[in-house]
Amino acid sequence: MENKTNKIDISHYVECTKVLGPYLRSALWVHGCRANCDGCVAKEMNAEKGTIYDVDELAEILIRVPHTEGITISGGEPFLQAESLVSLITEIKKARDYGVIVYTGFLLEELQNSKDENIKKMLYNIDILIDGRYIKELDDNIPYRGSSNQRIIELTDRYKDIMDVYYNKHDKRNIEINVTGNKVYMIGVPSEYGLKVWEDFKKKAGGKSGI
Ligand code: SF4
Repeated sequence: MENKTNKIDISHYVECTKVLGPYLRSALWVHGCRANCDGCVAKEMNAEKGTIYDVDELAEILIRVPHTEGITISGGEPFLQAESLVSLITEIKKARDYGVIVYTGFLLEELQNSKDENIKKMLYNIDILIDGRYIKELDDNIPYRGSSNQRIIELTDRYKDIMDVYYNKHDKRNIEINVTGNKVYMIGVPSEYGLKVWEDFKKKAGGKSGI
């Protein structure tokens, strides 16, 4: 990735999804992760080259999406590009009231203990953090997170009234298939069945997946 804070290295974004948190949300997959979790559904996507975006340009795109309540950021590892993400979120929040949900392979405590100011700033901008690496043996089919070690942590009160509906009710896992240009993407945390469907679909269509 270019070493400029007004640039961000991403794999993909979608303007609108229903399967990555409350309400309608945009979703962004930053590119690259060092964790290498067994069973990571974003492995292929991270292995490919990412796309460098201008932060302001990406912010403009997301600001203009109608009816979204906020964004879910995943990857890849968002905290490896904390500085760029802080700039992106700050730009969007200047224009809109915007909720931010982030998936990370780090633990909240690791992030809180970091001396990196950008990581601290990013934490201030997050409403819900889903933390910890994916552990295949602990995958319990609960929606919105991959394995039972991962925690869904409210860092603000923004979603407190709807936590039960979206996160604590333990409904089914849902995925969406998104076709952008000549590429196909899976969005969401897949169930075992959803993953099988996606794998079949991918063989036929070619595609990349991202939680
Ligand atoms: S599951 Fe998440 S933390 Fe683990 S390798 Fe994949 S992107 Fe990285």
